[in-house]
Amino acid sequence: MDSKERLSLPVIRTEFGFRRTSCDCELCSFWCRIMPGFLVPSDLQRLCPPGADLMTWAKEHLRASQGFVVFNGKTGEKLQVPSLVPTKQANGHCHWLQPDGHCAVHENAPFGCAFVDQHMKDREAHKRNVAGRLARMEDFAKNGPYSQVWHMLMKEGLTGGGEYMAARAELLKIKAKIAKRAAHQARKERRKKRKQGRR
Ligand code: SF4
Repeated sequence: MDSKERLSLPVIRTEFGFRRTSCDCELCSFWCRIMPGFLVPSDLQRLCPPGADLMTWAKEHLRASQGFVVFNGKTGEKLQVPSLVPTKQANGHCHWLQPDGHCAVHENAPFGCAFVDQHMKDREAHKRNVAGRLARMEDFAKNGPYSQVWHMLMKEGLTGGGEYMAARAELLKIKAKIAKRAAHQARKERRKKRKQGRR
């Protein structure tokens, strides 16, 4: 995917008081090919077309993931926070990733895609991820629509997610490739300047 070919328009959207991000560079968009972003409960309303049956729609477009494990350092307790994630294509890419690199649901992309990018500080990304987890936990606590969809998908064996370690490894490779390209470009610039200096 050539990020230059992508034409994502910045979409003004806020969630939990955070502004959405709009970066679609190589680093940010690689997740679409490996590990699509998680949904929060409000994403269901945005993504499911009006009039569509939520469960039928979810079977086609979503998968139930075990989600994130929160570890309490004081008590040693582990808390699993399940999530809904987009279905994947046979090649492992997100179901909504188009051949031209566009996201078919860009305007209403899941929270994990639209509100976290690779350029924000870890602290900021952490705050956003925590807000997303809390919203999921609240929905599960009252068996809201998000929880009901997740349980239905689990029951049907329609599961996904869990590719975090593979994604991290791939991310490191991409970062190394970008750094190599930048170093090569810097060398070229230096050579050009030296040549110009001799004239
Ligand atoms: S929903 Fe869109 S932004 Fe999110 S992973 Fe899929 S293609 Fe990428």
